[in-house]
Amino acid sequence: MTSEPAFHDDAYARTASATVAFVAADPKGRPALVLDRTIFHPQGGGQKGDRGRIAFPYEIDGLGAAAEIVDTTKKGGDIFHVLGDAEAGAALMAHCPVEGCTLALDWDFRHRQMRLHSASHLLHCFIERTLGRSLPPPSLSDQSADAGVNRYDIADLIGDDAFRQAAAALNAFLAEGAAITTYPDADKPGYRWWACEEWRIPCGGTHVADAKEVGVVVATVSRKKGRTTTSFTLRDAA
Ligand SMILES: [Zn+2]
Repeated sequence: MTSEPAFHDDAYARTASATVAFVAADPKGRPALVLDRTIFHPQGGGQKGDRGRIAFPYEIDGLGAAAEIVDTTKKGGDIFHVLGDAEAGAALMAHCPVEGCTLALDWDFRHRQMRLHSASHLLHCFIERTLGRSLPPPSLSDQSADAGVNRYDIADLIGDDAFRQAAAALNAFLAEGAAITTYPDADKPGYRWWACEEWRIPCGGTHVADAKEVGVVVATVSRKKGRTTTSFTLRDAA
């Protein structure tokens, strides 16, 4: 089946109703729920998979009325909601499909991902603007719970002064605010774009609706000696 990715319609939905279609192992072999539609964004494109809870319309033997979701992953059209309690999968499977469930996102976690991920796109744009040339997409985009990293396969991509200038321009832009939108590609099904002012970046992730929501960020550059890559890291200012 295909799980409808409701997070594309509204990245700010914190709760939603859903049907548990079936229980299956996720791509890492963990017991997981596959739903008809979901507000949980799966891991990918530099964002961590969402976390939260699912409440059932009735008590399920050996499981109770709710379960923790500790990660969300994707394979093909299926989105896997990884159960914190591995034993819960078998208890649920006998009841599938389970209609009338309620999903609740760990919103603090998701919102930080949305903010820092959006800021990583903007830092890319401001480095291009500072250098006066376009950059290839990052060879790696990764995000921990509190930091976003973009790595480029280019040694010494930018000098310290220019990087400071780009980071200052980014923070000035964030303080001013600007609308951020996403939309599906007209030709490629499942392919999406991120847009802010004149910038366009291919991305299927979740983003804040306005740059102002990001707040103040601290950007650092790392170019280790002998390495052929340059990495940029973004964190919330303390
Ligand atoms: Zn994105």
